[in-house]
Amino acid sequence: MTGLNELRSPLSFLQSRLHDIPHRDMLDTEERWWKSEGVAVSHAIDRAGTPWLRMFDRLGKRVDEILYPREYQTILKRGYRSGVVWRALEEKSLIPTYLLMYDISFHDPGICCPYTVSLGSAVPLAKYGSAELQAHFLPQLLRKDDSVWQGATWMTEIKGGSDLGAAVETIARPAGDSWLLTGDKYFASNANAKLAVVAARPEGAAAGVRGLSLFLVPRYRNDGELNYFIRRLKDKIATRSVPTGEIELRSSEGYLLGSADSGIYLILEVLNLSRVANSVVSVALAQRAIADALSYAEHRNAFGKPILDHPLLRHQFENRLNALRSAFALAWDSVQLLNEVWMERAPYSDRYHLFRLVAHLAKYWTAEFAVDTTKWAMEVHGGLGVLAEYGAERWLREAMILAIWEGTSHRQMLDGLEVMERKQAHKLLFRRLSEIAPSKELQDMESEVEQHLKLPPEQREELAEPLFRRLAALTAETLVRKLK
Ligand SMILES: Cc1cc2nc3c(=O)[nH]c(=O)nc-3n(C[C@H](O)[C@H](O)[C@H](O)COP(=O)(O)OP(=O)(O)OC[C@H]3O[C@@H](n4cnc5c(N)ncnc54)[C@H](O)[C@@H]3O)c2cc1C
Repeated sequence: MTGLNELRSPLSFLQSRLHDIPHRDMLDTEERWWKSEGVAVSHAIDRAGTPWLRMFDRLGKRVDEILYPREYQTILKRGYRSGVVWRALEEKSLIPTYLLMYDISFHDPGICCPYTVSLGSAVPLAKYGSAELQAHFLPQLLRKDDSVWQGATWMTEIKGGSDLGAAVETIARPAGDSWLLTGDKYFASNANAKLAVVAARPEGAAAGVRGLSLFLVPRYRNDGELNYFIRRLKDKIATRSVPTGEIELRSSEGYLLGSADSGIYLILEVLNLSRVANSVVSVALAQRAIADALSYAEHRNAFGKPILDHPLLRHQFENRLNALRSAFALAWDSVQLLNEVWMERAPYSDRYHLFRLVAHLAKYWTAEFAVDTTKWAMEVHGGLGVLAEYGAERWLREAMILAIWEGTSHRQMLDGLEVMERKQAHKLLFRRLSEIAPSKELQDMESEVEQHLKLPPEQREELAEPLFRRLAALTAETLVRKLK
């Protein structure tokens, strides 16, 4: 089968798609390490090594310490040292970050969550933090050794993550040069981060998303005491190595990033970084699932030959490989566009609105593709696919989370519609796609989108899914031609 070998490793696939990969040596080293050591650690943690919480020390003092298997620190710190966060700001490019994420998440998709939220803390600090805040905190997030600080991005509260304007009840009260935040965060990954960016509403600010601001909240107060508390850690189906917890902010010291009335832009910028990461990780995970299915299908015999040699299965592998290439093209386009616009501030350029639409399409399409592909890969393993000892079931568990966090697929569709309606981003998209490969199909799709946007609001939402699905598929299939 043509292209079969490119599936075997993340770098061979990247090489086949991008041809010229920066930092090739670094990625090679990373891949070798994961194969020889990282994979075994990652599987062991998924099965039996999840983090746990020690709330008090032996004398009854609240410490909220998260304990991990020592090997977890090894895999985690390795990515930071390689530059998954520091390279973005030092090299002023997100390309090395997302390449590393692809490489790493082929072996462990969950570990990219801490990297993403650390990046999501460093970037707004670098863009919007005062010179004093930057001098105080940024170097710790960009350290190149194991003393590096981890970041976190805490927006979601118990009443929901989709409708932040209604659900964020955390209040911020001014206190001299800083603020005091009080509220509870319900899904807080990297629960023991040394520094988090947190959505809160300044006392008296407007209702809805416009009244939200973004604050930097350190782990320790100025007097050295805990600045926030971890109520408990979640027991999750996947990303099991990552400590996702519930956070109690109790007059926690915080520092405003940007202006109080621009918080929603900052929050969405943080989300954009993680949606693009999610897309890259989803494709890497799908590749991993296909690669595992392939190596099984080459060796499992039925009806006198390897199951791979039966026409139906062989055809499915070919289709999956093609779909993987398209999904990668879409995800990578979101990386490249983000890399052009990530330092922009509101009001944004047209390029930024184009990026937003591509990012919604990519987050939606790649996560759904990962879920579908990991389910299929499980099926290729037959009954063995459902057994924990062989690993195929883990990939489906990991994929399910990718479709939910950073905004569910519903959210991507509705936000995608919004940027088309309000910013006419579809026109920019169709112009971009026509430059790559003009076609009648593109013209028809553009008219269909235009018609859709004229529907009454209720109907526009009701019928959004098939339209968004076709638009994502066509965008991916057109973009893949650019990478050939
Ligand atoms: C493992 C894990 C780790 C996480 N870590 C973090 C973190 O570190 N920081 C953080 O801030 N958040 C985090 N989250 C939260 C995540 O971002 C939210 O789960 C996600 O945004 C969805 O919010 P929700 O779960 O409250 O669902 P809800 O917002 O309650 O939505 C429930 C359902 O209703 C649908 N829905 C909502 N509105 C509409 C609509 N208008 N039309 C159609 N359907 C709609 C949603 O799509 C969803 O399917 C994490 C989640 C998980 C699972």
